[in-house]
Amino acid sequence: MDPIFTPEQLAEIKAYHLPLYIRSAVSPAVYLGVLLFILGVLVRPFYRGAESCAGWLTQRLEFLRTAPVLRVVIQAMDRLWGEPGWGAAILFALFVDLFLELVYAPSNTYFGYVLEHRYGMSAYTPLRYALDELKGIAVEGVATSALVLGLYGLARRVKRWWLVLGIPSALLLLVSSALDPYRSRVFFDQKPLEQGPVRERITALMASADIPFQDVLVEKTSVASKRLQAYFAGQGPTRTIVLNDVLLQELAPDELLAAVAHEAGHVHEPKWPGRIASSLALVALLFAIDRLLRHSAARGWFGTTRFADIRTLPLLWLLTFVIFFLSTPLSAAFSREREREADRYALRLTQDPDAFRRMLVKAARVNKMDPEPPRWVVLKGHSHPPIGERLAAVPPPAPGPQTPPAARDVP
Ligand SMILES: [Zn+2]
Repeated sequence: MDPIFTPEQLAEIKAYHLPLYIRSAVSPAVYLGVLLFILGVLVRPFYRGAESCAGWLTQRLEFLRTAPVLRVVIQAMDRLWGEPGWGAAILFALFVDLFLELVYAPSNTYFGYVLEHRYGMSAYTPLRYALDELKGIAVEGVATSALVLGLYGLARRVKRWWLVLGIPSALLLLVSSALDPYRSRVFFDQKPLEQGPVRERITALMASADIPFQDVLVEKTSVASKRLQAYFAGQGPTRTIVLNDVLLQELAPDELLAAVAHEAGHVHEPKWPGRIASSLALVALLFAIDRLLRHSAARGWFGTTRFADIRTLPLLWLLTFVIFFLSTPLSAAFSREREREADRYALRLTQDPDAFRRMLVKAARVNKMDPEPPRWVVLKGHSHPPIGERLAAVPPPAPGPQTPPAARDVP
């Protein structure tokens, strides 16, 4: 078998990944440090600033309280919050968010733009990159404001708020994948794959896999990235097969089919254990937040004067970070196992290990994947097994009967 990369290509890939590995090693400590700095030094001045900004705005915008539609909105906010002061709470949360954005702006620009361009992985123009970044910040700002109003507002008024909020959120989490097809449209144009042999072969493959789907869409990500991407979004009647335009450009039809077959493998994996576990984890997290808020109020941490004081928000970020940091290696290990199973499924479905291997090799070349990343990087949170390992699991193109590895696992 040919090696995936020439020595020069491999050297380039190692050079491209080295900064990423360094970031992976130091970023948890950096983020922890930044959060502790916010908690120890910035909470008080940010809160004072938010209060005076909110006061100034209230004076200036007093007329809005009697404006036709806004009057109702403002009254609803007052009721949701239980008292005046939600303006200062939202501003405080936005200050914290904005500070984090500013601190991370240099590293985000380096990793998101400079490094990607240096290794030919990005097609972003500076303008489009900046616009997408701003879009991301705006989406996050809205999400933070909603979280502040929902979580803190409810916690202030309802005793068992973590159940009241947790149960509907957990249910929402259970059905949220139905909304998947609409998510990425915020960033990229999608249009249906044109009629023709490729579409026909995908339709036939899905029929043999017994997977209903609504449409095959082509997502124009080439304006941003030169990577290959394919995924299924939604489920049942909303299931959409999304291929990016780079994939259609780079892969031969049988390789494209191998990629779709891998994605089809994910459809058949048992989803409920994971969904139920994450819903329960969410309720547990909210309960932990409740305990933390009570502790903090009882001890007056960061100048907090009452239960569910907005000044505890960075503490919630800290708690969430610790939980994710500790749980990611475990969830990534499960994810890698699902990826291996999806590979085995694809091989069984297409019966074409040769095309599958070529698909993996092209993906590795185009996406500049490190075939053998350091073990600790994989264990820390890689969602996919290293490409070298995935290739090794594809049955060799030897003459004679070919048995996909998965056949041995099936009783
Ligand atoms: Zn996969």
